[in-house]
Amino acid sequence: MTEYFQHMPYELPKLPYAYDALEPYLDARTMELHHAKHHATYVEKLNAALDGQGDLAAKPLDALLRDITAVPEAIRMAVKNHGGGHHNHSLFWKLMKKNGGGDPSGPVSEAITQSFGDIKSFRDAFTKAAVGVFGSGWAWLVIDVSEKISIITTPNQDSPLMQGFVPLLGLDVWEHAYYLKYQNRRPEYVEAWWHVVNWDQVAENFDAAM
Ligand code: MN
Repeated sequence: MTEYFQHMPYELPKLPYAYDALEPYLDARTMELHHAKHHATYVEKLNAALDGQGDLAAKPLDALLRDITAVPEAIRMAVKNHGGGHHNHSLFWKLMKKNGGGDPSGPVSEAITQSFGDIKSFRDAFTKAAVGVFGSGWAWLVIDVSEKISIITTPNQDSPLMQGFVPLLGLDVWEHAYYLKYQNRRPEYVEAWWHVVNWDQVAENFDAAM
């Protein structure tokens, strides 16, 4: 998918914008801690888990996640958590931008309308799924092998790739993503996040998956 996923050692990707670019919806301090500390730790621990693993270390991350049961049990949980964490966050940063939000257009918009009735209904269903994640996890718009799109949630740092889906849009609802600004008010964070969604990237992910 991108250069960071080719093989280990994996690297923390640079954000495609400044830490304060998504203000006032996502605050700069949260963005900095989230990227430079949380995401960096997933990368570090993923590299540590794959260190000395030969063939596995040469395998692209998305292939490791798609076939997670093929990863030896001794490091499977580490690859799932930290590999999933690296993959999910690398997608997440690109799925947001300054002056984002609004409605999607083009083929992905048509696919969403076809599956959910209209864009507002999709947004409501996605919001409900994100708010309803118990504990730490993610909400996703995904596409499957039959090109059907749907909303799913995953616990912890599980990647939709582990369930045979390709992620198109994802929202991190771990408390570390919003607690400094929103405390326990996850619904406010989710509402704010819609203002920074990068629909161009969703369209690109959709085109790449088709
Ligand atoms: Mn996170």
